[in-house]
Amino acid sequence: MMKLSRYSKNLENQGITQEQQEKLLSSKVLVMGAGGLGSGVIMNLAAMGVGQIKVVDSDVVEVDNFNRQFIHKEKNLNRAKVISAKEWIQEFNSDIKVEIDKVRINDLNYYNVIQGYDIIVDCFDGYEAKYMLNEIALRHKIPLVHGGILGTKGQVTTIVPDKTGCLNCIVAKPKSFSKTQIATFSPIVNTISALQANEVFKMVTGFGEALLNKVLIFDGLKGQFDTINYSKSALCEYCNGSFFDDINIDQSQNLTLDTGSNPIPSPNLNSNPNSNLNANSNLNPQIGEQLKLGDTKII
Ligand SMILES: [Zn+2]
Repeated sequence: MMKLSRYSKNLENQGITQEQQEKLLSSKVLVMGAGGLGSGVIMNLAAMGVGQIKVVDSDVVEVDNFNRQFIHKEKNLNRAKVISAKEWIQEFNSDIKVEIDKVRINDLNYYNVIQGYDIIVDCFDGYEAKYMLNEIALRHKIPLVHGGILGTKGQVTTIVPDKTGCLNCIVAKPKSFSKTQIATFSPIVNTISALQANEVFKMVTGFGEALLNKVLIFDGLKGQFDTINYSKSALCEYCNGSFFDDINIDQSQNLTLDTGSNPIPSPNLNSNPNSNLNANSNLNPQIGEQLKLGDTKII
């Protein structure tokens, strides 16, 4: 068992309570992606005292990752990112239970990846995967901390199924995803990943207010933060119930099901009345812009 003294600076003088710290110590957080966002999220979760972390990524460490993916060391070049990430966590905080999965999730394998976890952190580098994760979180009613980067800008929000809107409410899933790549820099990525970890901290402990129905936008060049409110969209098929109508299972049941019998339906873009950045996209032009350019290997 971890010693609370390690986390005494979390607690003393207007910090969290011992009970809240113990919630962190017993929490299980799933980090989807061990790139730039994943690096910062993992470091912060490990520092604050999350008890169990699972890291999921299918890539290996490449030399051009190092400008922002700082948990990976040169000695791990060409090794799986999940192994490199696990090594970092264990060296930093040996009390944390670490699970890893070197896999790219799809509708057949995702279930084993998410099983048993309290909260998901979206550290993926492309919006196609981010929308898939949004759908999985909603289906299984697991809170999702979304983070996204486009160049020198980024955004964070926390999606709580049944309570808040979702990624598709903010900007409807596009019909296609751009492969455009835009440079990004470590401080931008670090800022967003730290904010994501802060969302996990607040969600697990109940300390402060999470970004529920709010997107926090960061413009790194201007040094400016903006918060934009959103809500469940009646047009969002994930939130208005139409998408999941055929599947009526709660989380606990769902997590023991064989996904082979209940796979996520393949994306049917033509059936989505919201597609192509419809009326919702005017909620936030910056987010719309990110999605048009969204499927970038920049994180
Ligand atoms: Zn929605």
